[in-house]
Amino acid sequence: MTNLTMFSLEGKTALVTGANTGLGQGICLAYAKAGANVIGVARRSCQETADKIAAFGGSFKEIIADLSDTSVIPKIAEEADKAFGRVDILVNNAGIIKRCDAADVTEEDWDAVININEKMVFFLCQTFAKKWLADQKGGKIINIASMLSYQGGIRVPAYTSSKSAIIGLTRGLANEWARHNINVNAIAPGYMETNNTQNLRSDEQRSEEILSRIPAGRWGTPEDIAGAAIFLASDAAAYVHGFTLAVDGGWLAR
Ligand code: NAD
Repeated sequence: MTNLTMFSLEGKTALVTGANTGLGQGICLAYAKAGANVIGVARRSCQETADKIAAFGGSFKEIIADLSDTSVIPKIAEEADKAFGRVDILVNNAGIIKRCDAADVTEEDWDAVININEKMVFFLCQTFAKKWLADQKGGKIINIASMLSYQGGIRVPAYTSSKSAIIGLTRGLANEWARHNINVNAIAPGYMETNNTQNLRSDEQRSEEILSRIPAGRWGTPEDIAGAAIFLASDAAAYVHGFTLAVDGGWLAR
């Protein structure tokens, strides 16, 4: 019989950025249900996430931090250590998107997207991996990529640059850290019903174009990435390194 305990996160601690809404909230709930202690990092209160986890008796603490500037990292690392002890799983989920014709993108908007979606991801990976390299007990990193890690997208040049970088970064870090039992992987969500796609979904024409191209015939939900997120955080993924797993209703298969 297959040993399903390899998928359990019992006794592990996971830190998830962007935990107050959307996919981040979905991942927090999934991890708590799989037995992990969960730390949610977000700009705003994660009360809704906390309440949903408390409802089934899960364990959750929040850290409020603005992830647009790397100066917050030492505070996050310190508070995370105090929350439940060693962090075993890092999910870099927080991200922003700014829609604008490439010809009109300002340097300010470019930097805002790259800082959160790319620079912060690297330095959070570095911060936790340094601890894991020191204690040699391994760890799991899951970065949230996008369909625009593979495709150009329309009117989102900084976003597509940052998400394309995530796949490269995930591979590069895996090459360095795999031998230390640190698994660095990514999930590329398809088109999911969250704030991130609110504008797309309220544009009738774009919404219809997108929906008609999704083989599954529907937008994804935060629950849809739970399985992939648990798998990559669990012992079951011990030999999976540097891979980006699409959870996209078949979008990339078209
Ligand atoms: P969302 O807008 O609901 O979530 C974004 C999260 O990032 C929020 O929790 C927000 O608080 C956090 N965040 C943004 N700026 C921050 C800052 N300065 N400091 C701290 N936290 C900050 O949308 P979502 O769809 O849940 O997005 C989650 C991730 O999934 C993002 O990286 C996004 O690019 C990615 N993604 C989403 C889709 C989709 O279709 N929804 C598809 C592919 C990838």
